[in-house]
Amino acid sequence: MEENVRCSFCGRTKKDALVLIAGINGHICELCVEQAHDIIHAELDSKSEDEENSTASLGELPKGITPRKINEFLNDYIIGQDDAKKYLSVAVYNHYKRIAQQKQSSPDDIEIEKSNVLFVGRTGTGKTLMAKTIAKMLNVPFAIVDATVFTEAGYVGEDVESILSRLLQACDYDVNAAEKGIVYIDEIDKIARKSDNPSITRDVSGEGVQQGLLKLLEGAEVNVPPYGGRKHPEQRMITINTENILFICGGAFDGVEKIIARRMNTSVIGYKSKENTVKDQETLLQYVNHHDLKQFGLIPELLGRVPVLTYLNPLDKDTLISILTKPKNAIVKQYKKLFELEGIELHFTAGAIEYIAEQALAYKLGARGLRSICEAIITDAMYEMPSSKDVERLVIDKEYAKTQFDKSKIKKLGEAA
Ligand code: ADP
Repeated sequence: MEENVRCSFCGRTKKDALVLIAGINGHICELCVEQAHDIIHAELDSKSEDEENSTASLGELPKGITPRKINEFLNDYIIGQDDAKKYLSVAVYNHYKRIAQQKQSSPDDIEIEKSNVLFVGRTGTGKTLMAKTIAKMLNVPFAIVDATVFTEAGYVGEDVESILSRLLQACDYDVNAAEKGIVYIDEIDKIARKSDNPSITRDVSGEGVQQGLLKLLEGAEVNVPPYGGRKHPEQRMITINTENILFICGGAFDGVEKIIARRMNTSVIGYKSKENTVKDQETLLQYVNHHDLKQFGLIPELLGRVPVLTYLNPLDKDTLISILTKPKNAIVKQYKKLFELEGIELHFTAGAIEYIAEQALAYKLGARGLRSICEAIITDAMYEMPSSKDVERLVIDKEYAKTQFDKSKIKKLGEAA
């Protein structure tokens, strides 16, 4: 009986096989085990490849993502600014849906327009952070450019095309990746026309640049100097199609509140008391619309190409406190980590945190100033601590924070101003 035992898979007899493993109802030889092993591996490899493709291939939204999930991701890094987050989440979602639609479009399909975004909000309120965070989430190339360095062709300064040079540099000149990237154009308000009246003598520095931006924002084949600028006249141009690049523009638009107030007052005259119509300057921004920005000096053609308009609130003390402590990579968490690496437990008291936020407000530094104030307070400790072996815990309270800050250059600069 023993002699008749065979591999249940290939039929080899015990005599022909090197090893024959017995199971409940049959046997398997060493060759069939090896073959089965290879099949399993091939199967697993192809599955994980499929998964990779279905999650984050460049320029596509990860599977299962929704505007709400994009918003949740932003929440990990950005405090408050709920309206702006919501608008950005929807715009980004639609942007990538639009790219997907292009891939499978038929001639009679409705063409979805680009959903470029425009942020209005004071400096340091999180506009750049918002754009940067969304690029991180999507894992696409990202570039920040400042609108003020551009001039109309033929004038000193950079051509608008060099915006795309930055994007190319950000992805090591991978044209395919750059064409799905995100560009943040800062200080878009600084290229506003000085007067709303187009018949007034042409304002070269502002309107010319706005005109130059049009084709980029809309989607076109653009010849880009790979190294940017005009210093390398011999460089060979690279052609980039901006059709699928998401542009996010941001600006402080100082004084736009007055334009909004004027518009709102006239539109509500007659059925609201004056008291109601005079809105707090800070809350007025939420009513900003494209018409206000046209009045501010952006040309209608440009505004038409940034259809998603939203605002960012000025930061109050509570928001600054949250920014210091809550985001995933909050400043306070970063300092704690730095000290932890030295084996020291760092603690900021609530009083100290509040003091830091108050100074940022007092010196009109906004969130951007939080780090420099913290540095001013903590640098002495960071200098001394690594050489003092026996310290295990450091508490920064309001008094310590104040003493250190009073010695600092920020404080002195503030006094001089
Ligand atoms: P803006 O582009 O509006 O001038 P940024 O996005 O550059 O401002 O903000 C400057 C810094 O301030 C950011 O790097 C971030 O550390 C912090 N910051 C500003 N606003 C927020 C916010 N709403 N939530 C978290 N951090 C913020």
